[in-house]
Amino acid sequence: MNAPHATPPCLMNNYQPLPISFVRGVDCRLWDTQGREYLDALAGVAVTSVGHSHPRIVAAMTEQAGLLLHTSNLYRIDWQVQLAERLTALASMQRAFFCNSGAEANETALKLARLHAQRKGIRQPLVVVMENSFHGRTFATLSASDSPTCQAGFAPLVEGFIKVPFGDVPALQALAQTHGQRITAVLVEPVQGESGVQVAPSGYLKALRDLCDEQQWLLMLDEIQTGLGRTGRWFAGQHEGVVPDVMTLAKALGNGVPIGACLASGAAAELFGPGSHGSTFGGNPLACRVACEVLAIIEEQGLVANAERQGTWMLKALRAGLRDHPQVPAVRGHGLMIGIDLRQPARHLAEVAAREHGVLINIARGQTIRLLPPLTLNDDMRLAMVERVLALLKSVR
Ligand SMILES: *Cc1c(COP(=O)(O)O)cnc(C)c1O
Repeated sequence: MNAPHATPPCLMNNYQPLPISFVRGVDCRLWDTQGREYLDALAGVAVTSVGHSHPRIVAAMTEQAGLLLHTSNLYRIDWQVQLAERLTALASMQRAFFCNSGAEANETALKLARLHAQRKGIRQPLVVVMENSFHGRTFATLSASDSPTCQAGFAPLVEGFIKVPFGDVPALQALAQTHGQRITAVLVEPVQGESGVQVAPSGYLKALRDLCDEQQWLLMLDEIQTGLGRTGRWFAGQHEGVVPDVMTLAKALGNGVPIGACLASGAAAELFGPGSHGSTFGGNPLACRVACEVLAIIEEQGLVANAERQGTWMLKALRAGLRDHPQVPAVRGHGLMIGIDLRQPARHLAEVAAREHGVLINIARGQTIRLLPPLTLNDDMRLAMVERVLALLKSVR
């Protein structure tokens, strides 16, 4: 057996991969090089939402690979137009820009915020971000994130961010009084995923929408993790009937094929002009065709409603099973985003879960077990996952 957490010397040392290597997956299950089977309660961090090797994804990818992968944005790309039409209709937005990751989608949103400020004549614009937020690893997005680990050693960061507590409307109203003239946008995750599935109080997004309208700030929802059915709505803002000015997507959009999107509506949709932004790979025929297939599968298989139903059952079963656990102060969730807090450091549990219980989980911020199963989860898979997670927690005393 390999030494645990050994990064191969030919790779940069920024990850700590477990020495488990998968060769094959089907829906919610994965197999490693030893032929051992695992239940995937993580979905590659909210990416493989329609499951591994979905036959329709395999067919769309292989057909498109045999036709055309890439032409550049110097030419019209029909699959890109089709994807933009579908996504903007689902999200009640107007225009789309495609890129290759979540961070790039948020970079796009932040550039729109700067242009919005310029239109309003704001000289030193501020974007409001939340405590414990995560928006990516590029310079602007790590500057927007509230994570000392992501930021350590990378100063000077990008300027122009101001932080308030997540879920706190009065704090934002106070900021409107003191900094209102300089604020151009509010960037927020409807559920904070990386910081351990922090669910905003109900009514929060609606209150943000109202305040942004009143102040003429752009409301920018980072739906990279929460979007595309994960929380039991197509987009998490829809739980409160909130349509943002800007919405970012990535993770599940390509089910593992890299693609990100920034959607905009109203005035925000008209800010870019020719030459103001771009991406060589962004919106290529392969990624866009696969994303169209992902949307069609989510819709035709009823996966949004399934996420809500399975998520509700899963949360209920975990809460019941962990009610009297002395080391578990809280179990939270929204659809198929579930967080289980522990009173002790839990980093080692991802490996214990995989090796001893055959279930893939993630540990967020050191002390929260995060579950993000595929949206295709059925009753049997859900019961098995819950059973394995409860067995794991039985070993924690
Ligand atoms: C994953 C994530 C990102 C970053 O996406 P990348 O594709 O890793 O760049 C940004 N915001 C949120 C909310 C995320 O969950």
